[in-house]
Amino acid sequence: MKIKKWSDGSYIVRIDKGEEIVEKMKEFCLSEKIKTGWVSGIGAVRDITLGFFDPNTKQYSENIFEDSYEVSNLNGNITWKDDSPYIHLHITIADKDGRAYGGHLTRATVSGACEIVVGEASGVVVGRVFDEEVGLNLMDL
Ligand code: FE
Repeated sequence: MKIKKWSDGSYIVRIDKGEEIVEKMKEFCLSEKIKTGWVSGIGAVRDITLGFFDPNTKQYSENIFEDSYEVSNLNGNITWKDDSPYIHLHITIADKDGRAYGGHLTRATVSGACEIVVGEASGVVVGRVFDEEVGLNLMDL
């Protein structure tokens, strides 16, 4: 992973081949002390696990993709929970025929490149609180 900070306070993050995206984003937030922000990216990945949250059962089911896919969109936010970065990412991946799949990003390993831009919301820390009714860790605003 390589990190470059822009003069306006945003970051460019390059996650490299063989590295897992969610894990690396946590590491990035810890090293740069980012508490709240937003994420936008593209790239190429393999061994992807996507989550689907069922609001009725309040459980996630998983879809696993083992081949290589383009990341046509990686989007999400950074907040903070229990003294750790809380990385919430959603992804759309596309296969060689252009078919797309999407969901909550549980894990994905970079197969080619992963180029991410991170914006930091300075002066604010947004936490997470578990909502019993919804079954999710919602933003604590
Ligand atoms: Fe999600």
